[in-house]
Amino acid sequence: MRVAVIGTGYVGLVTGACLSETGNHVTCVDKDSSKVEMLNRGEIPIHEPGLDAIVHRNTESGRLDFTTDLDTAVKSAQLIFIAVGTPPREDGSADLSAVEAVAQQIGRAMNGRKVVIDKSTVPVGTAKRVAELIAAETDHECAVVSNPEFLKEGAAIEDFMKPDRVVIGTNDFRAIEMMRALYAPYMRRGDRLLVMDTASAEMTKYASNAMLASRISFMNEIAELCERVGANVEEVRRGMASDVRIGGHFLFPGVGYGGSCFPKDLIALQHTGRTNGMVMRILEAVTAVNDDQKSKMVQKVTKQFGEDLSGKTFALWGLAFKPGTDDMREAPALNIIEGLLKAGAKVRAVDPAALDMARSLVGDPTGLTLATDPYEILDGCDALILVTEWNEYRSPDFELIKKSLREPVVFDGRNVWNKDLAESEGLIYHGIGL
Ligand code: NAD
Repeated sequence: MRVAVIGTGYVGLVTGACLSETGNHVTCVDKDSSKVEMLNRGEIPIHEPGLDAIVHRNTESGRLDFTTDLDTAVKSAQLIFIAVGTPPREDGSADLSAVEAVAQQIGRAMNGRKVVIDKSTVPVGTAKRVAELIAAETDHECAVVSNPEFLKEGAAIEDFMKPDRVVIGTNDFRAIEMMRALYAPYMRRGDRLLVMDTASAEMTKYASNAMLASRISFMNEIAELCERVGANVEEVRRGMASDVRIGGHFLFPGVGYGGSCFPKDLIALQHTGRTNGMVMRILEAVTAVNDDQKSKMVQKVTKQFGEDLSGKTFALWGLAFKPGTDDMREAPALNIIEGLLKAGAKVRAVDPAALDMARSLVGDPTGLTLATDPYEILDGCDALILVTEWNEYRSPDFELIKKSLREPVVFDGRNVWNKDLAESEGLIYHGIGL
């Protein structure tokens, strides 16, 4: 099939690349000409494992190309994905200006029947609005489908190629058949296409993210109580997760959730609640617990070193909001860096993928040094803080850490280090909820 994907960010680029991998002809469109130029030079603007090989293979075979020319891409496509950003507005609602602008542009470029697919995370009613905006610009027929994306950054290719489910929200019979055909190659292990009405599809995405975020905040709150009563949240987690009704996913306490989705999607859903006369009490609590959690690591540090951290330097391992990505939107590392600098400390930080992103987000504040070698930065630091559990940080050389640090203190923000091993090397170990 001939496909256009509008918006070539984390979702659009993965969608376009993976759709071209199964034989479709895909044009990825972005208004950011520097991004398009990079892609046309064969450079991948984001860090996503496995993505570069798929992009290179399919651009070489002529099935995948990149352009800023939305008009031509729409004219030659049967299926058009909208995958632009939907960041939060001041009031928490999703900013749909990019989605709406693209809808109008698609409408103006229409030259026959098309299927337009909302892949961006958008509130209930957006597909209807997109259909109206397109219809205002053209007499050509257009079916608008909600097809929310569930990929996880860091494992996005695997998620796209072998999805748990693909949600299709439309009652247009022909559009359903086209979506079924498009996704069939990714359903070889069995049909996991869920067809439903548009509003339910739009809500499914928000409800799923809200549930996952709730599990994290729930465990962070339990972790806090474990610390106060002398229980070990890791034992508690194991005890809970073995119950098949609960399961083991998303029960890991830590430094709080971040990223481009959970924080904004939760407040957008609360906003939807408010505009419909309803306070989303559980989600308000989930967000509040997470906001607190993001400041807990700095509280642990000041508990150990005192409120005034001037003269102290801290090493920070991991900046991305999670391993496997360079995405730092709402990353807990940002709160931790800000908190430490504010208390007078200096920070030296490393990350395998997110250094450029960190530079563009935080600039070059006094007291922050970004580096590449996790052990080199330790020399003369007062303590080490693990923020993002990249694989390469999971089994560290505690002996070298002990030798390099000025004071033998480590803070494990993800509970991934072996406490006994660290302590046997003479380190003072702090985890979350232990
Ligand atoms: P992103 O910011 O990485 O990419 C969005 C892209 O859209 C940018 O490259 C931007 O230049 C482009 N764009 C904006 N306006 C445009 C226009 N008018 N014409 C052409 N291009 C335009 O965003 P993302 O992380 O890929 O997220 C996209 C959507 O998918 C959001 O709604 C997000 O909530 C949702 N989502 C994201 C993830 C994720 O893990 N990142 C997962 C599921 C769903």
